[in-house]
Amino acid sequence: MFAAVSVFAIFACLLFGGVRLGYNISMDGKVITTVSSKNVYYSACEIVAQIVEGDDVLSVLPEIEIEAVVTADDTVNNCDEVVNAIIDNTDEIVWASRLHINGEAYGCAEPEALEAALEARRTAFDIPGAVCKSEFADEVLVEEGYFIKDEVDGISALSESIALIKVKTVVTESRLQSVPYQTVTQKTSEKPAGYVSVSRQGVCGTVEIKTDIIYINGEETDRITTSSKVTAEPVNEIITVGTARTSGAGARAVLKFPLPAGVWEISCPFGKGGHKGVDLRAPHGTPIMAAAGGTVTLAGVYRNYGNCVIIDHGNGFSTLYAHASSLCVRQGDKVSAGEVIALVGSTGYSTGNHLHFEVYVGENRVNPQPYIGL
Ligand SMILES: [Zn+2]
Repeated sequence: MFAAVSVFAIFACLLFGGVRLGYNISMDGKVITTVSSKNVYYSACEIVAQIVEGDDVLSVLPEIEIEAVVTADDTVNNCDEVVNAIIDNTDEIVWASRLHINGEAYGCAEPEALEAALEARRTAFDIPGAVCKSEFADEVLVEEGYFIKDEVDGISALSESIALIKVKTVVTESRLQSVPYQTVTQKTSEKPAGYVSVSRQGVCGTVEIKTDIIYINGEETDRITTSSKVTAEPVNEIITVGTARTSGAGARAVLKFPLPAGVWEISCPFGKGGHKGVDLRAPHGTPIMAAAGGTVTLAGVYRNYGNCVIIDHGNGFSTLYAHASSLCVRQGDKVSAGEVIALVGSTGYSTGNHLHFEVYVGENRVNPQPYIGL
């Protein structure tokens, strides 16, 4: 009677209650999954054998017990769920990483440990404080998956192989290099031939050069310039070269005549008896004018020159005016061409009123006559 009621109840449930016959699969006395048919379990085992790395995977699965049960429709597991249940409940199956170097398999280790060991190897040759980019020069592949525990050798068994992986380290270096300036020559007829002066100092430019230095296992193998950028343009040096002819046919004065017209005559030319200037006789008190603009570097009694003025015109060019009766400028004054600087006299070593006029180019006293059109 009881059996009949039970059978009736089961069929009633099957018909009306959304329940069905199924099988509990147990490992070590613990139900790991419920399946609708034993074949679902066996198919899952085949899949486990395929996805888990290792020989004879099925032999490591724990013994199971199968028990027929009445169960609700929605509690049976599909094949994927059963696969997961088998893997999760088999201690002999573990998640691990297998290392491949240049296509060759090198054993397995726990994934985090392998990742850390590879990262340490990749950055082993980085230079502290430098801009480094490192990568493996060998082909390194990490294959993650399920493995039979016996297949997992552990990280210490792999460390020797990892230490042999070639590492390429690229260090990017940036440096500033000086760019030389060009020298440009400018000719001017405003200055006498022989006149050479730097009218603008050259300034070197800079270029920023970026270089990739390539190391294999810490040994430099190559250097590649990746960019060069001018960060400051060089400034050309300008040299002024005088072209005005100062003697012979076609010569022209490059200096203003230092005395007013019509009041003077040459009393002693340049070179006569070693004469280093030209003597221009003129009445006492005749104004003496600056032959060109410049700075007064001397205004006073000077050697045998008596009252004397020297004007520096820059670039190593200067003029001297001697034997003045009185001076109209002081040392340090700026004067312009034609400005009255002194009055004709006969001070110093002199026998009569005259202007003794000299032209200096650098340290040399040159013939002043062509400079003033004589
Ligand atoms: Zn003289």
